[in-house]
Amino acid sequence: MILDTLPAAGERRHLLDVDRLERAEIERICDVAVEMREARAARAYRSLLESETVGLAFYEGSTRTRVSFELAAKALGATVVDLGVAGSSVGKGESLVDTLRTLERTGVTTVVLRHAASGAPYLAARTTGLAVVNAGDGMHAHPTQALLDALTLREALGALDGRTIAIVGDVGHSRVARSNLGTLVRLGARVRIGGPPAWVRGFEGRPGVSVATSLAEALDGADAVMTLRVQLERAAGGGVPSLREYTRRWGLDEDRMRLAAPGAPILHPGPTNEGVELSAELANGPRSLIGRQVENGVPVRMAILALVTGAA
Ligand code: ASP
Repeated sequence: MILDTLPAAGERRHLLDVDRLERAEIERICDVAVEMREARAARAYRSLLESETVGLAFYEGSTRTRVSFELAAKALGATVVDLGVAGSSVGKGESLVDTLRTLERTGVTTVVLRHAASGAPYLAARTTGLAVVNAGDGMHAHPTQALLDALTLREALGALDGRTIAIVGDVGHSRVARSNLGTLVRLGARVRIGGPPAWVRGFEGRPGVSVATSLAEALDGADAVMTLRVQLERAAGGGVPSLREYTRRWGLDEDRMRLAAPGAPILHPGPTNEGVELSAELANGPRSLIGRQVENGVPVRMAILALVTGAA
């Protein structure tokens, strides 16, 4: 069975993390996403999810993820409700579980949940009958971002076996990096992470992962480079003397990218802080796959919605 299944939740399937996805499942999700991209262009599968009601419950800010889940659900004919946390009873102190149970009683069948607390989607899956899709939980996981990154890299580089992917920056506080480490290693890539010591601590010794202590070492011959937003909201500022110092040592630009393999692409999950983790020229230049990552968000999320609901 594809995707995480919690027996206690019965028939519904969930995407809580990428941990339990085998390589074949990651590849299948990418294949279904390609099929969904074509279907969307041809306006096909417009009633695939017509019996589903998808609730968007974003307790943390989001642009790309929320919009692409909404478009994905609508492209497949689902009814979509956006909880709009700011204007909901969450402001009156309603607990996450009560809110989700309310959504379930009103007819929501699948919830797309983003929450600042790591593990919130697991709680949702345990305590409701909803299919739960994790749209980012605290510092823990961002599975659909890692899946769309896998698709983007596969389309840019071909098979990832033996390729070196560098992930540079605030790795320790990044749910994106944590999920990417899981999928990229399972797809056969070697992942080299680099950043200030406080932000890469604890990753040494993981299978398929190496830790670089300088930017030059991190980039050396890498086939692709991913950089990350400094997670100021997760108290990340503490790991470096100042943002300026971070940029001086670890910021990416065209010049520094020459240390990577010729033409190596640059990825970033967004939102970017141009001038901090990468230069505007690099973000908008020919190496950049950042726009492609955003474009791949809709078909990957179409695939995930179809898979968790059993429609694909
Ligand atoms: N959009 C990604 C996330 O929600 C990356 C970021 O915010 O830095 O984790």
